[in-house]
Amino acid sequence: MGKSKCLSVLAVLVCSFVLAVSGCVAASPPSRSVDAEPPIGPAVAAPAADIAGARASGIAVASASTSAVTLSKSGATSSKSAEAKRIALTFDDGYNSANVNRLLDILEREHVRATFFPVASWVKKDPATFKRMSAQFEIGNHTVSHPVLTRLSDEAVRREIEGGVASKLFRPPYGAIDGRVRAIAQSLGYRVVMWDIDSRDWTGISPARVVANVVNNAGDGKIVLMHMGDSNTIAAVPQIIAQLRARGYTFVTVSELVART
Ligand SMILES: [Zn+2]
Repeated sequence: MGKSKCLSVLAVLVCSFVLAVSGCVAASPPSRSVDAEPPIGPAVAAPAADIAGARASGIAVASASTSAVTLSKSGATSSKSAEAKRIALTFDDGYNSANVNRLLDILEREHVRATFFPVASWVKKDPATFKRMSAQFEIGNHTVSHPVLTRLSDEAVRREIEGGVASKLFRPPYGAIDGRVRAIAQSLGYRVVMWDIDSRDWTGISPARVVANVVNNAGDGKIVLMHMGDSNTIAAVPQIIAQLRARGYTFVTVSELVART
């Protein structure tokens, strides 16, 4: 093999490697759908210590149960029966205001209570929709800019949480949490809320698949993860409501579930 042949073979190899690497990058989802919130551990990961910590700091739990009482005035779940099956729908992020408003239309029409975890960067852009949302539904903090908190410094984590929407509930973006981030959230008076059922709406699956993922995994006291700006979610929600109601579920906020336990 001549020297030039050798060099061209080398060039091909290098090119292949570069293409493979850039191919990988190109194949990764765009930033919005990277909003994959994979199921890391069980939901409502917050142990009893979270409540104790919140009580010690004089913040969360009392007002959580107060808001549960207030919210119960709006209708949907008036049953206090211990046998009643309860489920908490939660919606993260924001971004697509038109879809968020469609979702609010559906939930209001159906008298379904739910908990929203919007990012503060979106809230800042659309305060009117956030005002509508927070007037009717429970709100949780989902940071300012949706970073992977476990990769940030203590100070940056604190800034992301403190700059988030005011609440007693906190859900880490991507479900990325460790002992350090959890401790910071708790020190700021938050209860960490994960989920039991991942609808996987963020993967772009069909509305029918979103419905199946939720309904087939439903259980008393479970928390469902969905995203408020996704079109497949909006299309799925009416069916989710109808099918879960047919199975005897009532829709409650995260705080109401916490208040019972
Ligand atoms: Zn998110």
